[in-house]
Amino acid sequence: MMKLALFAGDGIGVEVTKEAIKVLKYLLDLNSINYEIEEGLVGGVSYDAYGKPITEETLKIAKESDAVIFGAVGGTKWEPLPIELRPEKALLTLRYDLGLYANLRPAKVYDDLIDASPLKKEIVGGTDMMIIRELTGGIYFGKPRGIEDLPDGTKKGFNTLVYTTKEIERIAKIAFDISMKRRKKVLSVDKANVLESTELWRNVVANVSKNYPEVELSNMYVDNCSMQLIKQPASFDVIVTTNMFGDILSDEASMVSGSIGMLPSASLNGKKGMYEPIHGSAPDIAGQNKANPLATILSCAMMLRYSFDKDNLADYIEKSVENVIKKGYRTQDIYSGAAGLKLVGTSQMGEAVLSELKDIMPA
Ligand code: NAD
Repeated sequence: MMKLALFAGDGIGVEVTKEAIKVLKYLLDLNSINYEIEEGLVGGVSYDAYGKPITEETLKIAKESDAVIFGAVGGTKWEPLPIELRPEKALLTLRYDLGLYANLRPAKVYDDLIDASPLKKEIVGGTDMMIIRELTGGIYFGKPRGIEDLPDGTKKGFNTLVYTTKEIERIAKIAFDISMKRRKKVLSVDKANVLESTELWRNVVANVSKNYPEVELSNMYVDNCSMQLIKQPASFDVIVTTNMFGDILSDEASMVSGSIGMLPSASLNGKKGMYEPIHGSAPDIAGQNKANPLATILSCAMMLRYSFDKDNLADYIEKSVENVIKKGYRTQDIYSGAAGLKLVGTSQMGEAVLSELKDIMPA
């Protein structure tokens, strides 16, 4: 039994998860897979109903599920709230309470959307990488931290970059496991020439790699990696890196593909995971049937692959999305106006994926 939690959230979160769930349910029903989906309010809608961005009941649903499908949270209406009550707090609470220590962000350039990339076609063609960012450690959480007064009346701000062997081992294991489902190449990114904590990172990753003789491990300094991502993005497969380096590199990599509405993500604690599009609640287009649901549909494919080892079903979703793009269906964010393209809304895009799935999936 797959126990799924569905937190649609605010704005376009509601619209895009609706389409993703439609596609997911069809696939699971067709393959006689038992599942239950429990819904909960998160973000601004939870604040409106209960006075907080996430309640204990909703957290309980998340904790008792195998996987969480998350839409997006936030909106102008809730911006004046104090930080603890803002919609985005729901996301941080879920990440923390579920112990989601590995963030997976694929960046793929579809041949038919190659023009959406700000880079030259000949450079981005074939790009298909997965950035794995450590999410609960490193400099964002290390102690001591703070801002202190100095005797001369000025101040000192400080943070601590700390990683333990165990923290590195578990993220490295995720990276190697994932690479086994891909092209069996792992690149570990660090700054081992300057930072001792990432020298340890490099050594521990090398140790973990001994359990994966089929996977080719290489290392790169983060400054070089930021250049190579632009110079030769197609050369990367799995990249594993620290919290802060991953934060920056994953945003850089997402720009290589150029279309925010196409990019899924996962945050894992072992097999348990939360799956969500990388975009936000897009208040500017919310409720207008304009949002691209493909990132959320692709997040469900990631869920089937990484939480449930249903790689073949994930492949069917990904293939359907690819075919729909090939056939010219475009939501406004990826519509160029070129001849042969069909401008569609959120629900039509969901229907197009579903209909493609029905065509390619053996009954
Ligand atoms: P955003 O990602 O919501 O939107 C940025 C731009 O991209 C907007 O012009 C939007 O219309 C467009 N866009 C985003 N997703 C799209 C999609 N699926 N299809 C078509 N176009 C899409 O980022 P923002 O405007 O900076 O933030 C809006 C709200 O979302 C804020 O409250 C922010 O805090 C929140 N936010 C939430 C998350 C999350 O829930 N994970 C992530 C980022 C931002």
